[in-house]
Amino acid sequence: MAKQVQSFNAEIKQLLDIVIHSLYSQKEIFLRELVSNASDAIDKLRFESLTNPSLLPAGWEPHVRLEPNKEAHTLKIIDNGIGMNQDEVVQFIGTIARSGAKAFMQMNEEMKSKPELIGQFGVGFYSAFMVADKVTLHTQKAGSNEGVVWESIGDGTYSIDSVPRPEGTGTTITLHMKEFASEEEVQDFTETWVLKSLIKKYSDFIAHPIKMKGETEDETLNSQKALWLKSPSEVTKEEYKEFYQHLSHDWNEPLKTVHFKAEGTMEFNSLMYIPSKKPWNYNTQDSAFGLSLFIKRVFIMADCKDLIPSYLRFVKGLVDSSDLSLNVSRELLQQDRQVTQIRKNVTNKLLGSLKDLLAKERSSYENFWTEFGATLKEGIPSDHANKEKLQELCLFHSSHSDKMTTLEEYVLRMKETQKDIFYVTGDSLNQVSNSPYLEKLKEKGYEVLLLVDPVDEWVVDSIKEYKEKKVISIMREGLELDTEEEKKQKEAELKEAESNLRPVLDSMKKTLANEVKDVVLSERLTSTPVCLVASTQDPSAHMQKLLSQMGRGEQTLTAKRILEINPKHPLFEKMLKATPEQQSKWTEILFAQALLNEGSNIPDPVKFSQQIAELMVQAADATKH
Ligand code: ADP
Repeated sequence: MAKQVQSFNAEIKQLLDIVIHSLYSQKEIFLRELVSNASDAIDKLRFESLTNPSLLPAGWEPHVRLEPNKEAHTLKIIDNGIGMNQDEVVQFIGTIARSGAKAFMQMNEEMKSKPELIGQFGVGFYSAFMVADKVTLHTQKAGSNEGVVWESIGDGTYSIDSVPRPEGTGTTITLHMKEFASEEEVQDFTETWVLKSLIKKYSDFIAHPIKMKGETEDETLNSQKALWLKSPSEVTKEEYKEFYQHLSHDWNEPLKTVHFKAEGTMEFNSLMYIPSKKPWNYNTQDSAFGLSLFIKRVFIMADCKDLIPSYLRFVKGLVDSSDLSLNVSRELLQQDRQVTQIRKNVTNKLLGSLKDLLAKERSSYENFWTEFGATLKEGIPSDHANKEKLQELCLFHSSHSDKMTTLEEYVLRMKETQKDIFYVTGDSLNQVSNSPYLEKLKEKGYEVLLLVDPVDEWVVDSIKEYKEKKVISIMREGLELDTEEEKKQKEAELKEAESNLRPVLDSMKKTLANEVKDVVLSERLTSTPVCLVASTQDPSAHMQKLLSQMGRGEQTLTAKRILEINPKHPLFEKMLKATPEQQSKWTEILFAQALLNEGSNIPDPVKFSQQIAELMVQAADATKH
């Protein structure tokens, strides 16, 4: 194939423009990015060779090599990793839009001051253009004889050509260094001592030797220490942090580091981190998760989902096992009993650390909860074995105060007369904290948990009971708030009201025959005239709304609810005296109000507004006389 010139796609062009013209500080991080790519390429080759040993060149010893050349003003970064074929070069380095490039651009302003963030967007390769005005990449994929030369001066185009690589499998990146004006204070990256200190600073724990020609012989610049095999007392905070940044590409400090060695039936070391912030792509479906798996210090694979449950998918880290066989494949891992054991062990350890954090550093825990609480909660319905532990870790908004509460704290505050734990669900805190369903509970001084995460419906549904107290929705029928004595007293009142208001109830029931199951009197409300409640066996209105948003609501949406009437509201006495026509109109308005109060949409907002306007005119006419 002859040499071709192609254009970068629009996003990559913009990205390059920013990298070349706007990133001034921390130019040195290009080395970390390229060395990290080189090391990943070696890991990939080693992994592939487990099932296809012929991929490894004879006498293969993995290494990364730096070759600075002061005279030519170039720096080469060379690896004998997996290499790329032409399609891959075009795809990874050239034209295909990657979501990370877009996200990077959206962060543009912040980036200008923090180019070190570039790695987390999966576009680290382009950081080479911060220091080089021409980049040449010569690569050859393992198992192939065809090499590829890619070259660009970062002007919006690149050339690509097919040329065998003299060294065979692997990748050489040649940076033709920019000339920086002296006042720019950029280090000389063709200077060996500069490179040595940068490797120590950013890449010391890379597992493969990073070599450079010394005075007399090759020097290895990194100590390759496997941090996770050391005992925690030998590791400094700084080392933990650097390693975290290497693993996660996240420049923030980790919120919590969990480092332990499991002994006994299963032997493995694990080093894990809980980030302090969500990564930019956290909630996108394609985002990878899992722990890196090492077997006896040899990297096997990244993002191993079998090692951790998905509700802990925010955790970054690794497991190094001495028991697993080196011949594992992804498929085999899923069925491996030892892997299941590791996962159990790792989960226990993480839940224990979170418990600790909650007990000892409440404000850190609250930060954690804001970022990842919604994820952790998913474990309650999905991980039966750890349900109890997870319940203890949950924080909830509550009517008690602005601070979030645990179930334990809630129970400690419960009034003597209060039997159950109460909650209300909805779309926003504002909506639920003003909900009329709370009226009576506020009056009684009973605290209510305010649940506004979509997953909460499933969470409370599986909690059901905590410390022998039922967890109860205040939006369901049969809510009992009164003591036996109070009940007896009110029963008489209610009976009387019922016989008095019977005609109104019947007329309302007739009007709403298609909308509700029943119309009944209730003690639930104090100042609002009506509300809707779900019967105990049906899904709640909020759950129905969520299900229909997820496209799973067709059958459940028909579940009719019960309309409860507040007999103390003066409206109903007036309704008794109204004409049947008025009764039916008012009933429609009341039903729409009840829908709005529970956070549902009303079917015909225009009609509703017209009805209200009509009432206003009538009211104005009435006061005229
Ligand atoms: P990231 O490494 O975060 O994916 P980069 O822009 O640094 O983003 O690299 C893009 C892709 O190019 C890598 O995922 C990898 O597939 C490929 N790549 C980069 N450098 C090398 C290399 N030295 N050897 C083999 N493949 C590489």
